[in-house]
Amino acid sequence: MERTATETMPEPQAKHLNAGDMARFREILMDKREQLNGQVESLSKDATASTESTEHSKSPLNNAENASDTYEQDFAFLSIESEEELLDKIENALERIQEGSYGVCEACETDIPEERLEVMPWADLCVKCQQLEEQGGMRRSGRDFELLDDDADQAGVPGDEEA
Ligand SMILES: [Zn+2]
Repeated sequence: MERTATETMPEPQAKHLNAGDMARFREILMDKREQLNGQVESLSKDATASTESTEHSKSPLNNAENASDTYEQDFAFLSIESEEELLDKIENALERIQEGSYGVCEACETDIPEERLEVMPWADLCVKCQQLEEQGGMRRSGRDFELLDDDADQAGVPGDEEA
């Protein structure tokens, strides 16, 4: 059966994750979402309550050092990415679990290694594509990805979409 041209590709499926893995990551993600929802609230309160908690806020590096469980490491990520952005990614990841496309790079459709998902269960890009995006070599709009020309990238100023 053919699908309409606009719907094009079937969702890629992760070949390296079985149903059990999916369920496990879903648990982790839902857990995380709950934590974050609580955190976003307390963080915005903290921000107004200002500096008195400086002593609690160890640097991510120190945290990673004595990270006895993975949650510690995850919190290091929280200080880097905005919580809301992360919540967004978690929602997306949960959607992809539903669709069965979880664990596959959204840009190049290779399997995202399980070790990467363990650290960043909300990852929707493989390491390569993530780097590309961070370096400005790829633009994301919604769940679509556009590879940008290397040369155009050097020119700098984003904003002019026409090549
Ligand atoms: Zn990729």
